[in-house]
Amino acid sequence: MTTSYLLLGSNLGDRAAHLAQARYDLATTAGRVAAASALYETAAWGLEDQPAFLNQVLAVETTLDAPTLLAACLAAEQQQGRERQVRWGARTLDVDILLFGQEIMATPTLTVPHPALPTRRFALVPLAELAPQLVHPQLHHTIAELLAACPDPLEVKQL
Ligand code: AMP
Repeated sequence: MTTSYLLLGSNLGDRAAHLAQARYDLATTAGRVAAASALYETAAWGLEDQPAFLNQVLAVETTLDAPTLLAACLAAEQQQGRERQVRWGARTLDVDILLFGQEIMATPTLTVPHPALPTRRFALVPLAELAPQLVHPQLHHTIAELLAACPDPLEVKQL
C-alpha cells in the first residue's frame, strides 16, 4: 500500500463540482481517499487572462503502481471532458501526482515527485495542510520548509 498525494485543479464551469466528481471517481479507481485538504483559490499560473483555479490535494492510499495511478488520473480528467488545447490553458479538471510514497522516477510520461512542486504555492499550501512534516524524497526538506522557501508570488486563498 502506498500513500500518494494528488493535486486536483479546475478553472472552468462549476469548479467545486468538478473537484467533487474527481474525488468520487478516484475513490473508485485509485484507492481510498484518506484525507482531503480544503479548497484553495489561486489566480491562473502561466497564462493569466483566464479564470482563477480551485485546487485541492488528496491523500490516496493505493495498491496501484505509479503508472497505473497516472492512468486513473488521466481517466478522471477525460471523464470530465477536459479539452487540452492550450498549454496552461483553462481546464475542467487537471489531476497531477505530486508524490508517490518515497518513490523517485522519471520516464517520458511520468515524473515523480512532480518537478514543479517546490515552485508552486497552489500545490504546496494544500499539501502542507495535510502533511507538513512529510519529507520530500529528493530535496530532503519537509513540505513546510519547501513552502516557507517557495518563491511563487501568487496568493493562495482558502475558501
Ligand atoms: P498536464 O495535464 O498538462 O499537466 O500534463 C499531463 C501529462 O503530464 C500527463 O499526460 C503525464 O504523462 C505527464 N506527467 C508527467 N509527470 C506527471 C505527474 N507527476 N503527474 C501527472 N502527470 C504527469
